[in-house]
Amino acid sequence: MLDKEFLLKHLRNVPDFPVPGIQFKDVSTLYKNPKCLRMMVNELYELYKNKGITKVVGIESRGFVVGAALAVKLGAGFVMCRKPGKLPADTRKESYMKEYGKDTVEIHTDAIDDKDVVLIHDDLLATGGSMKAAYNLVQQFRPRKTYINFIIELTIEGLNGRAAFDDDVEMTTLLKI
Ligand code: AMP
Repeated sequence: MLDKEFLLKHLRNVPDFPVPGIQFKDVSTLYKNPKCLRMMVNELYELYKNKGITKVVGIESRGFVVGAALAVKLGAGFVMCRKPGKLPADTRKESYMKEYGKDTVEIHTDAIDDKDVVLIHDDLLATGGSMKAAYNLVQQFRPRKTYINFIIELTIEGLNGRAAFDDDVEMTTLLKI
């Protein structure tokens, strides 16, 4: 069972990080707590165990932690979606606009194929920009289906990250804040 109150109690809020005005939701305090970590991974396993997921894609770097643990439980592989220049072999790339300038995400060319059913995981949905880029990047590989998950969905501050995605994209979030 997902005890949302317990998770929210253990999530650290850091005001004015990395810049003044941002309320940073620090998932490191969820990751370090054995009960929180297990609860999140178990809940995601229940949500996705019957979906035929063959690859979990984690977005650098906070998406790697629960993403990899979930992949093991699902019997799926784990794929890193990384910032530019970090992956050593051939990559596919997708660029997107951030508040200040452009950013790019990369996945190894041989990491996903058209037989895969993919779950993309990240810790937090804010504007949706980074997940949208990862989603578009995964679509370049033409997988059979792509699911999206976040631990936290920020609904405060008038953010509407969900609006970045078409209605037919299947998305789950464990906590709405
Ligand atoms: P976005 O692309 O705007 O949806 O931002 C999501 C990414 O930025 C995630 O990888 C988060 O780790 C990080 N992020 C953005 N805003 C916050 C926040 N308020 N607290 C913690 N992480 C954040």
